[in-house]
Amino acid sequence: MERETKCIQAGYTPKNGDPRMIPIIQSTTFKYDTSEDMGKLFDLEAEGYFYSRLQNPTTDMVAAKIAALEGGTAAMLTSSGQAANFFSVFNIATAGDHVVASSTIYGGTFNLFNVTMRKMGIEFTFVDPDCSDEELEAAFRPNTKAVFGETIANPALIVFDIERFAVAAHAHGVPLIVDNTFATPINCRPFEWGADIVTHSTTKYMDGHDATVGGCIVDSGNFDWMAHKDKFPGLTTPDDSYHGITYAEKFGKGGAFITKATAQLMRDFGAVQAPMNAFMLNLGLESLAVRMQRHCENAMQVAKFLQESDKVAWVNYPGLPGNKYYERAKKYMPDGTCGVISFGVKGGRKAAEEFMKHLQLAIIATHVADAHTCILHPASSTHRQLTDEELLAGGVSADLVRLSVGIENVNDIIADLKQALEY
Ligand SMILES: *Cc1c(COP(=O)(O)O)cnc(C)c1O
Repeated sequence: MERETKCIQAGYTPKNGDPRMIPIIQSTTFKYDTSEDMGKLFDLEAEGYFYSRLQNPTTDMVAAKIAALEGGTAAMLTSSGQAANFFSVFNIATAGDHVVASSTIYGGTFNLFNVTMRKMGIEFTFVDPDCSDEELEAAFRPNTKAVFGETIANPALIVFDIERFAVAAHAHGVPLIVDNTFATPINCRPFEWGADIVTHSTTKYMDGHDATVGGCIVDSGNFDWMAHKDKFPGLTTPDDSYHGITYAEKFGKGGAFITKATAQLMRDFGAVQAPMNAFMLNLGLESLAVRMQRHCENAMQVAKFLQESDKVAWVNYPGLPGNKYYERAKKYMPDGTCGVISFGVKGGRKAAEEFMKHLQLAIIATHVADAHTCILHPASSTHRQLTDEELLAGGVSADLVRLSVGIENVNDIIADLKQALEY
């Protein structure tokens, strides 16, 4: 099946007389005839459901659709993108371990790694995604367990060189984890370029309608844990907290990572996605391919308009010819990148504030990547306590506006920006 077809068909095939839609199994628990039947589930000897904190049929069907879209072997939904990124790393790195991460990742993920996971005893080295080979090589340590990056960094819009980082990770016997939220599997499949694990904030384009917060982890099934037995004891030696199971032996390359994340991390942390939310996420997934195409077409036209406007100092959109990441974006995302653009309003902080005041269609929101055009001026909202100099040091200039182009008629979006710029 092609991507467009998978959006509609993958994850659930109704049998004779079954509901056409993925059913919402709104049940915490599942009934069994005998204790032995249930015991087999607990021992991971048989497949089935017993308690929705671990697994639920609705969430599993939606996860299977995302796995199919990414070309992976197994997937799990989580309550949010933050939970997905946390689990993806914590599943293989623990106190005393080390992770190499791109320095331009989403602020929430950066904080999770740099503050919260450091408190748990995991060390992180952040590298510029465009660093030299020597710098990248120097970031690895004997206790490094993973490399982490974002396909298109939110909000810096830097395109990650997936292939290069995958080669470096594999040379050190560790997997590459890629947060593919902004590109979605419609525009980029990181597994095709050597990534081993993909994560998503499904809150963004996948849901696409500002309706549900959620996350997802997908395993490519390509990473050979047993070949690096000493590095990943959590997968390659018996789990005493789970009946002595050795995940990599029992579930192989294709199933070990997600089974362990479910059996251990979901069991203990409970960051589960509700069946009702998974149902809504699935509605978003069904139209993901057509929406992404429209987001990219609209964003390209808006980027061109902004580039030609004499009220705009600069435009950053990786799909725009001349952008620093244009060639790399063409390689990894030949069909388009995403709908998010950043640009500078001529006149700095004050002019940007004035521009924001006069917008009518574009809504001011911290959110990005959904059907509605939304916009944020960090210097006067999320980052308002910082001076112009402090902002620059953090990579956000005082004139920077982040615009998430929606799927409205592009003429209306451009007309709104134009009148607010000219005010
Ligand atoms: C939003 C976002 C997250 C966090 O996801 P939540 O669903 O908000 O928890 C992680 N990574 C990226 C790239 C994001 O844009």
